[in-house]
Amino acid sequence: MDIVLLGPPGAGKGTQAERLAEHLEIPHISTGDILRDAAARGTQWGQKAKPLMDAGKLVPDEVVVGIVADRLAEPDCQRGALLDGFPRTIAQAGALGELLAACGHAPPVVVSLAVPDEELMRRLSGRRSCPRCQLITHVDELPDASPAVCPRCGAGLERRDDDAPEAVRRRLDEYAEKTRPLIQYYGDAGLLQAIDGNGSVDSVAQRVAAAVGSARNARPG
Ligand code: AMP
Repeated sequence: MDIVLLGPPGAGKGTQAERLAEHLEIPHISTGDILRDAAARGTQWGQKAKPLMDAGKLVPDEVVVGIVADRLAEPDCQRGALLDGFPRTIAQAGALGELLAACGHAPPVVVSLAVPDEELMRRLSGRRSCPRCQLITHVDELPDASPAVCPRCGAGLERRDDDAPEAVRRRLDEYAEKTRPLIQYYGDAGLLQAIDGNGSVDSVAQRVAAAVGSARNARPG
């Protein structure tokens, strides 16, 4: 079974995707992580994507579709994969449908996480990540005495370039204009499971797992 996690920036897709992929034993594919890695390594696509990402704009469809096509063709995706941050446009959703059909997979189960805008701003502006162990945390959860240090491995925490206020505003606008229409698109196709993304990580994880479970039970075979 292939799963798409859909939601605005800051909805908790990455955190939930990590847990769900581990639980279902399928690979977690984050196009944002793949693009950030390409940018850090300075590959040709990475260099093109970096300024767009830093400004909070979407990377062109053909770039991300190419990345996902290559990744889905790898053997570990045969049993299914969990897509986090893809698709983000109607064109990408169409391309995903074709890619899955070409490898004999059913259409994806789409879980959308809804979180109010004020909460998204709070989460994104305080989000910090660890460049060494990849922990993602929030300044509200860090001790006052050492707010810049990773509580897991002790490395210096960083703020993503695109979590700067101007970029956050642009990302929310891009989401509203280009990605939110996917809720209707997948709803019309009968593939959508809409979840309340508010609350603790554990409570949202339970809702996500329940939604995936019921979607799985509703499918033939
Ligand atoms: P994320 O980590 O998912 O928030 O993605 C970070 C940034 O990577 C986004 O703001 C976009 O610039 C780019 N990106 C990630 N996934 C996609 C996608 N499916 N389509 C276009 N751009 C993407």
